[in-house]
Amino acid sequence: MGARHAVCCSSGTAALHLAALALELGPDDHCVVPTLTFLATANAARYVGAEVAFADVDADTGLAGVAQFEAALDRCADRNVKAIFPVHLNGQCADPAALAELAAARGLRVVEDACHALGTTWRTASGDDVPVGSCRYSDMAVFSFHPVKAIAMGEGGMITTNDARLDHRLRRLRSHGMTRDPDSFQQHDLAFAADGTPNPWYYEMPEVGFNYRANDIQCALGLSQLGKLDRFVARRRALAARYDELLAPLVRPVTRVPDCRPAWHIYVVAIDYAGAGVARGDVMRRLRDAGIGTQVHYLPVHLQPYYRGRYGDQALDGAGRYYARALTLPLHAGMDDSDVDRVVDALRAALRRHADSGAGDRVETA
Ligand SMILES: *Cc1c(COP(=O)(O)O)cnc(C)c1O
Repeated sequence: MGARHAVCCSSGTAALHLAALALELGPDDHCVVPTLTFLATANAARYVGAEVAFADVDADTGLAGVAQFEAALDRCADRNVKAIFPVHLNGQCADPAALAELAAARGLRVVEDACHALGTTWRTASGDDVPVGSCRYSDMAVFSFHPVKAIAMGEGGMITTNDARLDHRLRRLRSHGMTRDPDSFQQHDLAFAADGTPNPWYYEMPEVGFNYRANDIQCALGLSQLGKLDRFVARRRALAARYDELLAPLVRPVTRVPDCRPAWHIYVVAIDYAGAGVARGDVMRRLRDAGIGTQVHYLPVHLQPYYRGRYGDQALDGAGRYYARALTLPLHAGMDDSDVDRVVDALRAALRRHADSGAGDRVETA
């Protein structure tokens, strides 16, 4: 990705937790997290006792950009906000330079949840393609190598950063909070022999940490997969382009972000189910009957019982509108073109069958 440091760990969730720990977020702090994300982004703040302030998202892209983060920050102006966690939903990102500017103006740290965006690049005004994970615009970026992600380690994660101190802390926290670095030993009487040489058995734990290491077997798989990343990303892009073309008369895909070249993690379409006269659950069941698995990414996290109980009901309308229309179609580097054709045919049938039955007569196309 072009970052100076990369710290491997046991999952994307562990990576988010480590990032929150490395920033020393704690019970008096708030983090702004987009509500349209996987649970783990928000949970990372809770692991360290910090509170979550949910940002709304753009109804068409599902992304929280400057406008949404700014609105969320204004809503919690009386609280101690320390960090924002932009989420690169579906593989797209909101303008990272603008978010960095906002964060700098407000004195906030930036942790990118890039679990969807391994291989995504952002084109700058001067025409450079900056990889997500280079951390040019953030303190840290977090990736996942769960089997559903771009590359797999069984389970696995990574944090990238350009900050040597964060790198050092992440490595220590990953392994029980312990260090074997003589330069950082605090208890010289225990650490060193009379002649000043470090005792060979000695290690020190200046703070409590975890066992968030990835194991050798996971890493062997990850290294092998890493070599295939470019091919996987290219294949996902080609499959997404084929979906775009074939679906054009039927449904629209998630709105594209200018200047972002996404490595699509998932392929999401926006369907006006009410307009089509068909329930989303029925469309999904019909597709499943045709052997095609679909999903909805995501129920906005602020609607989860835990967060509702903690923060009460919140009106985040952009997320509500995005969620109401979203449907994730199959996308995997192992698919071939005919798989896409089959999915599109099945989706057409799932939407049309209902219309043919007379209960609805229109499929929303715009
Ligand atoms: C997958 C994912 C995570 C968590 O990663 P794990 O490796 O499954 O722990 C976090 N955030 C997002 C957006 C994800 O998609």
